[in-house]
Amino acid sequence: MFNGHYQFLTPEEIELVIQKLEYAIAEHTRWLNDLYRSRICGLPVAEIYLKKTAHHLCRFGQWYNNTSSPILRGYEDFILIDRLHRAMHDSARILAIKTKQGEDITVKEYDTFVKKEGDLSTGLLKLRNEMRDNLFAFDSLTGLLNRQSFFTILIQEHARVVRTGRPCCISMVDIDHFKNVNDTYGHLAGDKVLQETTQCLIRHRRPYDSICRYGGEEFLICLPGTVPDTARNILERLRTRISSMLIVLDGNRGINITVSFGIVEMEPDISITDIISRADESMYAAKNSGRNRICIWEGIGGKE
Ligand code: GH3
Ligand code: MG
Ligand code: MG
Repeated sequence: MFNGHYQFLTPEEIELVIQKLEYAIAEHTRWLNDLYRSRICGLPVAEIYLKKTAHHLCRFGQWYNNTSSPILRGYEDFILIDRLHRAMHDSARILAIKTKQGEDITVKEYDTFVKKEGDLSTGLLKLRNEMRDNLFAFDSLTGLLNRQSFFTILIQEHARVVRTGRPCCISMVDIDHFKNVNDTYGHLAGDKVLQETTQCLIRHRRPYDSICRYGGEEFLICLPGTVPDTARNILERLRTRISSMLIVLDGNRGINITVSFGIVEMEPDISITDIISRADESMYAAKNSGRNRICIWEGIGGKE
């Protein structure tokens, strides 16, 4: 679903999954109550409870097995639900068969059933909560982490700098003259530029560099293990890729954009907020010296 730093499902898809998971929790509680009712009141057991394929036949099972999203199907906690779901229905079937045949249910069989039902509910709730967290952690337009959730990564990286002395740079990235894109081609075109820029940054970063959407047309990149000169080389690759990318808008108009970068190295005694301000200052220095370039922070009162 997401690789830790990038969201692959849309907010609408996540909302749908949350809805299905909540439905599943309610459906299986109903299922449990139905079994109790048949047992206690001596009513016939519904045929579906007796079938080996009950986990495919219940409404949640039908959705689970037919859900078209390969992304979701590849997600570990989603895959786990299959086993929990099947185990719950298998133990429920034993109870249903014995109820139908008027046989006693052993304590062990009953306890197993209650445990499996609990495991399924726990698994469904866990997945539901993860989905909810994701809705708040990622920016819906670009799929990148948002500023709030990125802070957690910066805190970890800063702690690593303090602990190990290994360098780490961050970079503020801002699209040049982005307002012109909105004013000339419209807001939707602007959105597309943001999405394509994101994709280009993701494609050409190192896999362990993390990116967030910091604000409107601003991104923040964290480059662990780099001093400013190394960070500049890496970002130079991103800069040239972005400036040579043709963004095709509706009506087949193609446009080019450029971005400006500010780089700063994390320092143990400097707070994350101050480090970000420095990255921002350097990015503005890049703007002031002509845009489509990279500036490294050169110290308080320094000349970028
Ligand atoms: P500079 O080169 O100095 O950075 O100029 P700029 O035009 O890029 O900067 P400015 O701050 O003047 O404009 C940024 C614009 O970004 C203004 C705002 O409407 C637009 N914007 C912010 N968020 C979004 C968004 O999600 N979608 C679109 N389409 N536009 C956005
Ligand atoms: Mg801008
Ligand atoms: Mg800006």
